[in-house]
Amino acid sequence: MRRILFTAIFSVFFVVASDSQTIKSPDEFLGYELGTRFTFHHKAVEYFKYISDVSSMADYREYGYSYEGRPLGVCFVSSEKNLKNLEEYRKNNLIKTGLVKGESSGKQVPFIWLGYNIHGNESVGLEAAMKTLFTLVASTYQGADEWLKSCIIIIDPCQNPDGRDLYANRYRTSRNTIPDPDKNSWEHNQEWPSARLNHYLFDLNRDWTWQTQIETQQRIELYNRYMPHVFADFHEMGTESTFFFAPGAEPWHEVITPWQREFNELMGKSNAELFDSKSKLYFTKENYDLFCPSFGDTWPLFNGAMGFTFEQGGGGVSGLAYKKESGDTLTLKERIDGHFTASMATLKVSYENSEKLISEFNRFFEENEKRPPFSYKSIIIKGSNDKSILGSLFQLLDRNQIRYGPAGSLGKKFKAFDYAANKEGELTIEKDDILISAYQPQSRFVQVLFEPDSKASDSLSYDLTAWSIPYAYNLKAYALADQIKHEEENIESEKVTNTIGPDKPYAYIINYYGFSEIKLIAALHKKNIKSRYSVKPFSINGIDFNRGSVIITRGDNQLNENKFDEIVTDEANKCQVKLIQVKTGLSDSGKDLGSAYSPLMKKNSIALLCGEGTSSGSVGELWYLFERELEYPVTLINTANAERVDFRDYDVLILPSGSYSRLKDTIMDYVKKGGKVIAFENAISVFATEKTTALFKAVEKRNTELKATEKKVKSDDPSLLKKFEDERRQALSERSARSIYKVNLDETHPYVFGLGIEWFIMKRTAGYPFLDKGRNIGYITEKDPVAGFAGYKFRDKIKNTLVIGSENIGSGEVVYITDDPYLRAFWKSGRILLGNVVFR
Ligand SMILES: [Zn+2]
Repeated sequence: MRRILFTAIFSVFFVVASDSQTIKSPDEFLGYELGTRFTFHHKAVEYFKYISDVSSMADYREYGYSYEGRPLGVCFVSSEKNLKNLEEYRKNNLIKTGLVKGESSGKQVPFIWLGYNIHGNESVGLEAAMKTLFTLVASTYQGADEWLKSCIIIIDPCQNPDGRDLYANRYRTSRNTIPDPDKNSWEHNQEWPSARLNHYLFDLNRDWTWQTQIETQQRIELYNRYMPHVFADFHEMGTESTFFFAPGAEPWHEVITPWQREFNELMGKSNAELFDSKSKLYFTKENYDLFCPSFGDTWPLFNGAMGFTFEQGGGGVSGLAYKKESGDTLTLKERIDGHFTASMATLKVSYENSEKLISEFNRFFEENEKRPPFSYKSIIIKGSNDKSILGSLFQLLDRNQIRYGPAGSLGKKFKAFDYAANKEGELTIEKDDILISAYQPQSRFVQVLFEPDSKASDSLSYDLTAWSIPYAYNLKAYALADQIKHEEENIESEKVTNTIGPDKPYAYIINYYGFSEIKLIAALHKKNIKSRYSVKPFSINGIDFNRGSVIITRGDNQLNENKFDEIVTDEANKCQVKLIQVKTGLSDSGKDLGSAYSPLMKKNSIALLCGEGTSSGSVGELWYLFERELEYPVTLINTANAERVDFRDYDVLILPSGSYSRLKDTIMDYVKKGGKVIAFENAISVFATEKTTALFKAVEKRNTELKATEKKVKSDDPSLLKKFEDERRQALSERSARSIYKVNLDETHPYVFGLGIEWFIMKRTAGYPFLDKGRNIGYITEKDPVAGFAGYKFRDKIKNTLVIGSENIGSGEVVYITDDPYLRAFWKSGRILLGNVVFR
């Protein structure tokens, strides 16, 4: 006993003497004590690079850039020997997952990944990461040198550098010389937008599966190269809260394995021990569930790792010092200690269980491939779906390492769940149909993404309760209990190459399928090429064209005559859209090309409101859509400047979800004078509260009807006796926890061309009544969602309500979209609606 103690003391002394005297601590390097300032991102990167230079136990590598150009990087921390063999361990690990083929050399080492500051204003992350790094390389923590001998630790100090620097800059601008703990002071109240988000105002901790943002895409590309065994994500929550660590709250997704559950408990115990020894307060099993795949705990869990969320009390408001309701002052130093302690506990418990971590990780993938637990063994995506949406689907599958390919069993008939019909049906497999088999390394993740409705053990969920991909992408798809095999060959994506022929066509016509066509319209607008669209189906030269088909005539483009064919062909090739050349404007059936039923597409100039009062998420999605998906100019106008803007300069004014009561007169005036407004979610209340609108009248009518039919509860009715502890659950009966509803469409209206007769939307709020003097373009006729949780009172309210509507006001028009049609940029089917509304 004594000898062991002596050896331990000696080795600690030796390491400290040799390393920490030569390696600068963060305090020494930065010139100030950690916790007394918010470190700028570039300074923290310098520190990581410095450690990487001076220590043989650290290797910092950049893996990309944020939208605003800040570097993203991770530091591998382990013994010198392990770092030398990093590539071998990486390959061995991947071979065991079955995601890559090859011969393993045998040895596997656990990879433990610590990710900090994915939310920019949860500002302690970056500071805690520096302390963790130094502690490991200087071996100033008991047991740390043993951890490094057995494990490879990956530290990502800042997953969202743009948000983090925004917070740090603002804090430095607004702070007093001596930090003011008063919660009302400027330094604790940052303006719009929240620095939690990235440049496009996306919540990067809701983007793990969808990977729409470059920060996520690059991080997961790196993640997939290593496939860590443990991933810990460090967050902050409200200032008055203490500290959260595992086990997570219910619901847990059913694909989570018994060992993952067990390790959740072990993680909790390891943390509790350290927190107890420091007399720190904490809680477990509340708030943070393990259900929806968007997050930095669930996504790693579904990828075979142990995924964890840690939440320190503090969050975006507490600055360097903050006076809590208890009278105690919460300091940044204390918050650093919270995440530092949790980091040490994570490493300790991972080290102690490293053998089982590896064996169970291997078993997870082996089971996935050989004995998938998913009741459906095959998902069939019809090859007849729009090519652009299939392209988006393949990208999503690739990024999540899910395999797919041409389906075998051609011509065979199967019993199958039909997603669109939301019931069991029949399927005959045809050529070009795509198979996603459950027999593959990512089988559990296939289940998470494709099961028609996810089973929650508890309806109180932190986020979405449904996300099934066929609904989000509006795909014709089926789920089969039968195991189907792949055809041998890979999916061959047919490349569209239009060429300029010797004869100059009268017009080019494009059948309207979806987003590629909208992208082409946007591209043609930018090149000043005019196009039309057909309001009704027609045929010409024996070819049928659907509603919304794009018509590009030579006659409309005389000014561009010499470059007309070249531009149209080039742009169509870039968008991978097939052009059909016709020699006449005379149709075989339906309207002619020059008819009033073929109006011009509008090259609209677009203003998007942002700033105080607007929902940053809603603004961000629309901004991202125009810039990164549609590649069409949009002008962001801050509500603070709105009174000074002449909105007549813009054809379309977009009101993202938000509150616009201050601008109501400006907005009404704009519409009356001929402007087009697109109002999303809460923004609709501008019109619902304006007495002259059809929407106001519809709401008023409904309220009167409801009053007349309202059941009166007598004052002594026993149903009024409700228990305090049931309050939260009772509130649930009123809401939809983001469930998916079927939307019926008026397929003759140009705003929904390309979407068919039915569509699906993620529903959060109860809808508006049908419009009397207006257009009811998309509406819900059933009370039950196709997937996800909706309370029984909510269900009663939702039947026969509006989702997409429009009305004319003065000489302008307002379009109402009651829910987010392009949720977090992964609800890909919503792009078609938005493109239609903007250009038609
Ligand atoms: Zn967070």
